[in-house]
Amino acid sequence: MKKIILVALALLFTGCVGTTPVTERSQVLLMSPSEENALGEKSYKEFMAQAKLSTDKTQSARVKKIGEKIALAAQRKDFQWEFNLVDDKQVNAFCLPGGKVVVYTGILPMAHNDDQLATIMSHEVAHALARHGAERMSHQQISQGVQSLGNILVQATAPEYTSAFNTAYGYGTQLGVMLPYSRSHEHEADEIGIHLMKKAGYNINEAVEFWKNMKQSKGAAQLEFLSTHPNDDNRIERITQIVKKLNAK
Ligand SMILES: [Zn+2]
Repeated sequence: MKKIILVALALLFTGCVGTTPVTERSQVLLMSPSEENALGEKSYKEFMAQAKLSTDKTQSARVKKIGEKIALAAQRKDFQWEFNLVDDKQVNAFCLPGGKVVVYTGILPMAHNDDQLATIMSHEVAHALARHGAERMSHQQISQGVQSLGNILVQATAPEYTSAFNTAYGYGTQLGVMLPYSRSHEHEADEIGIHLMKKAGYNINEAVEFWKNMKQSKGAAQLEFLSTHPNDDNRIERITQIVKKLNAK
């Protein structure tokens, strides 16, 4: 019922209802894809201006190569893809709208082969393809009676708007300001991500192994990832089912 009201409100205001890929779920969005991509570009420039790129040529090339295969599978002509390996020991990765993918060196030890690295990169790309950040921001704004978001944000110079966008997309300049994805968005990114990695030619059985590695890892580093990507005990079981179903096709 709540969803129907949200859809009706969005139509009444500016009329933007989207559908997620693979899961085909209806969404209420107060910004267009082009506005969202422009915001992604803006955030990406800000992030890269203070990020330290990895000097490891082999690993950087590996991230780019895997990213390009995923991008090909994603079929988003409006995305200007870029893939960067950033020297940072946080266990993290993100993809901004428009296809700006950042992998932190801290997550590399969790991925024991290219298929496992493709798992986390596909998962992050899936959040962007499914427009989870825009959806989350839209829900927040609808509840506050805001009618349109994208054009306000694209032109905004006020830092609170940019930082709201950054946190909605899984990174913040300060730890502790990050906004976690909801469990349902997290599940959806797993499902879309696995479809994407299969399409890109990767071994989807390794997705199960990657998330097992994540689960087994201990300490603060892993908590950084979990602060934006909430996990639950059923994750590996759900992923195993998705993989089984796709393997049977
Ligand atoms: Zn996630």
